[in-house]
Amino acid sequence: MSKLDSDIIVIASGPAGMAAAISAAQGGVRVIVFEKAATTGGTGNMGMGPLGIESRHTRAKQFKPTRDEAFEIFMDYTHWRADARLVRAYLNKSGDTIHWLEDLGVEFVEPASYFPTAYPTWHLIKPATGRPGPMASGTMMKIMTEKAKELGVQIMLQTPVRKLVKKDGKITGIIAEDQSGNDVEASAKAVIIATGGFGNNPQMIKKYTGYDVGKDMHPFRIPGIEGDGIRMAWEAGAAATDMSMEMIYLMPDNMSLPPQVHEAFRQPHLLVNLLGQRFMNEAVMPNATFTGNAIAIQKDRCAFLFFDENIKKQMETDFDFRNIVFPITRFENSDQAIQDVLGQGYGHLFVADSLEELAEKTGIHFDGLKQTVEEYNQFCEKGYDELFNKPHRYLRPIKGPKYYVGRHFPSAYGSLGGIKINDRTEVLDKKWEVIPGLYAAGTDACTIYGDSYVFVLPGNTMGFALNTGRMAGENAAEYIKTA
Ligand SMILES: Cc1cc2nc3c(=O)[nH]c(=O)nc-3n(C[C@H](O)[C@H](O)[C@H](O)COP(=O)(O)OP(=O)(O)OC[C@H]3O[C@@H](n4cnc5c(N)ncnc54)[C@H](O)[C@@H]3O)c2cc1C
Repeated sequence: MSKLDSDIIVIASGPAGMAAAISAAQGGVRVIVFEKAATTGGTGNMGMGPLGIESRHTRAKQFKPTRDEAFEIFMDYTHWRADARLVRAYLNKSGDTIHWLEDLGVEFVEPASYFPTAYPTWHLIKPATGRPGPMASGTMMKIMTEKAKELGVQIMLQTPVRKLVKKDGKITGIIAEDQSGNDVEASAKAVIIATGGFGNNPQMIKKYTGYDVGKDMHPFRIPGIEGDGIRMAWEAGAAATDMSMEMIYLMPDNMSLPPQVHEAFRQPHLLVNLLGQRFMNEAVMPNATFTGNAIAIQKDRCAFLFFDENIKKQMETDFDFRNIVFPITRFENSDQAIQDVLGQGYGHLFVADSLEELAEKTGIHFDGLKQTVEEYNQFCEKGYDELFNKPHRYLRPIKGPKYYVGRHFPSAYGSLGGIKINDRTEVLDKKWEVIPGLYAAGTDACTIYGDSYVFVLPGNTMGFALNTGRMAGENAAEYIKTA
C-alpha cells in the first residue's frame, strides 16, 4: 500500500472537481486530485458551455436576466422545492466564474439561449477549432487541467477512490486503488467529492428513479459515472436527497444518426403516443426537458413523431426549428439519409405507405391514430389547434402517400442529486449537521431543480458544477486553516 499526504483531496476531475482543485490551490494549499478515468474532464468534455448571470458578456449585450431576476425565475420554476440559499449562492457567483475561467485562459463567444423561450445564459465555449459546438467544453477542461498542474495540483489518473476515511467524526482521507489493484491511502484535512452522479449505473437509476435503462430511459452513458461518490458519502453518514434524471428526450443512439435525420424528427409535426393520441403542443418540443417529461408519462414511455411526403419536401428547403447544437437548416439528401439509416437496421425509424402499415410496424393503436390524423387535419384546415393551441404556422395536414416515423424515449444528460449539502457545499449528516472535512460539488450534490431540470436558464448543470466546485475549494481551503 502506498501512502500520500495532502491538505485537500478532490475526488474526480470533472468541472466540479477541477474548479475545486484550482480554487483550493489558488488559496495556497496542497491538493491531490484522484480520477478514475485515464483523462481528466469527465462529462465536462461533452458539452458546449456553462450558465453565467451578469457576466461581462451578458452585460455588454444588456441580456436579461439579472441576478435577482434569475433567482426569481429559478424559484418560481421550482415552486420553491429547492434550497433557496444554495440557488442564490450559485447564481450570484456564476457571472464571476465566467471571468475566473477567462483568467485561466478559457474563451467564450456571445451567450446563447438553447431554445426560443429560454434565456441567453449559456456561455458557449470557444474551442481550439474556433467554432462552438458539442464537446467544446473539452477545451475548457484541458485548460483547467493545465492550470491546476501549474498551481502544483497533483493529478492521479486511473486511481478511483473506493472509500472515505473518518476518524473521531471528521473526514481525514481516502482509500483509492492504483492501476495494479493496490490500495493507495491518502490523508488530508478535507475531502471534496465530485464524481458526477450515477448516470451510467442502471441499477441505481432503477432503484432511485424507477427508469429501466435501454427500455424506457436512454441516457448518455459516460463511462465511470457510477454513483461512487454518493455511495461513499452515504457510508460516511451523509444524508441522502431526492434523486432524479436530468431529463431530455431522443431517438436511441441519436449520435449514430445523420444530423439532418435527427433534426427532422424533432420538428413540430404530429407527435402521438401508443394509443395514437396527441399529448402535447409540439411547438414546445425544443424544450427537451418538457418533452421528456411528457413522453415519460405516456404508455410504455415512448412517442412517435411523424410526417408525410409533403412535409418532408418542405423540410428539404427549411426546418422550423434550428438547433444551436446541430446547426442544420434543412433535410438535405432526405431519401438517401433515411435509406442509409434503415439499411443499418436502426430500429426506431419507420417508413410506411399507409396508416394501417404504420400502426402495424410501430404498435400504435390504429383506430386511435386514424381518429387523431382526421382530427388533426381538420385543425390544419381551420388553422386552429383546438386541443393544444399549436401555432397556426406549424399546422400541416398529414395525408400520405408515404409516412415517416421516428420513435422517441426519455433520455438524460445524467443523474441529479444524492448527497445533501448546504450553501457552503459542506456535506450534512442525517441530523443535518456538518460532517467536518467533507464537501460535495457538481452532479453528486445537484438537488436544486425540484422535479424538472431548469432548462430555461441553459448551461445550468455545468454552471452548478463549476460554481459549487469553486465554493467547495474556497471553503475547504478556509476550513483547513482551523481544522
Ligand atoms: C452530451 C452532453 C452535453 C452536455 N452539455 C452541457 C452544456 O452545454 N452545458 C451544461 O451546463 N451541461 C452540459 N452537460 C452536463 C454537464 O456536462 C455535467 O452536468 C457536468 O459535467 C457535471 O460535472 P461534474 O464535475 O459534477 O461531473 P462529471 O463531469 O460527470 O465528472 C465526474 C468525474 O468523476 C470521475 N469519477 C467517478 N467515480 C470516481 C471515483 N470513484 N474516483 C475518482 N473519480 C471518479 C469520472 O471519471 C469523471 O471524470 C452535458 C452533458 C452531456 C452528456
